[in-house]
Amino acid sequence: MSDEVGEARVGELKTASMTLQTPHLLPVVNFYCGGTRNSLYGGGIFRTIKEFLSSHPETVHGRDYSEFFKGVMSSVAALTDFNITQERYLDYLGTPIRDRVEFSDFDGGLFVDSGGYKILQKGGLSGSNFDLNVSQKAVYGIQRAFGGDILVNLDSPLSPNDDYETRVQKTEQTAEYVREFLALTTREESRYLTIHGHNRTMIDRFLTTVEHTLNRPLKGTFDGFALGSLVPYKDDMGTLIEAVTAAKKELADRDLGDLPLHVFGISGRVLPLLVALGVDSFDSASYLHAAINGKYSTSLFDTVPLSQAIFDDCHCPVCETEALRSDMRGNTRYQKDVLGPVAVHNLAVQQFELKKIREVLQTGDQDRFRSYLEEMYRDRPASRKFAYRTINKTLEPYF
Ligand SMILES: [Zn+2]
Repeated sequence: MSDEVGEARVGELKTASMTLQTPHLLPVVNFYCGGTRNSLYGGGIFRTIKEFLSSHPETVHGRDYSEFFKGVMSSVAALTDFNITQERYLDYLGTPIRDRVEFSDFDGGLFVDSGGYKILQKGGLSGSNFDLNVSQKAVYGIQRAFGGDILVNLDSPLSPNDDYETRVQKTEQTAEYVREFLALTTREESRYLTIHGHNRTMIDRFLTTVEHTLNRPLKGTFDGFALGSLVPYKDDMGTLIEAVTAAKKELADRDLGDLPLHVFGISGRVLPLLVALGVDSFDSASYLHAAINGKYSTSLFDTVPLSQAIFDDCHCPVCETEALRSDMRGNTRYQKDVLGPVAVHNLAVQQFELKKIREVLQTGDQDRFRSYLEEMYRDRPASRKFAYRTINKTLEPYF
């Protein structure tokens, strides 16, 4: 960490193979989605995203998009989305992502999620002519085969409707996966532990169960933590703030507060507040989902229907490229080529904002960070009280 402003931190996240500026947003990228080799592994809008990520000349028109893809999140579970054949599956696992000719221009960091939620819900990984029993070992094998820089254990996320018994069972199951994960991985790999729960009691119980199952302290065992089970609360700022606050406190109590904290699947209007609470990284597919729904981002908070977008107001490389503006106006043969550039624009808006936050934090000036937060939320009545509560909790109060 190079600077701390209240609880917020700015710095670098380093593994053996990559460095990311933090706080950092990792876009979700689906590398393997059906298709064939010569179509960059197919996948509709995902394909266009991959073309941007790998500087496909006809798509990027000479501009460089690498700053938006410095770190990306990919999930083992994505393999189940496109009913692939076993032959293709084995091909996907044959060469790590960054060693493939198709992705040779991509040199960003790769965080590979275990995909616990989806995999366990579906009962396994399946394709058109094969089924895999999912185990921690199988998931780790795929994470390695992808060439992941940061790996995380298989987990059994909590859902809002789980009763107490179910939560206990799921926590014990996850702790068991963690035990296997540690036996499979080595100290040279960057290992993150998933954390589940959205208040101090739940998170304390979760961490205690893991420690008990491992029979060793978490300190010195993991390189970072990833808070999960929050996607059902993505629009509930109060719960998100409570969950992150609880995780930070429980980690600090165990002398783990210096390690990086990632939050799974969250971005948008709550991002600056989670940064204020000390979150170091996030991942999100919201840039993509917004585009699929025809939404063009005008800020971290706002979208307009694509038909109403004014491209002149944006200075991202997509909106500054005439050919891509034409694509976004619908002058393409395929819908993916309309929505792909919109998704990359949406991502750029989020990445620019996070860059701005890093710059404010780099000054180390509490007043500037407070002003930034106040300005961001001033005209947003639904979020404003959460912003003030977060400011009061994390920054020195005005006198
Ligand atoms: Zn733009």
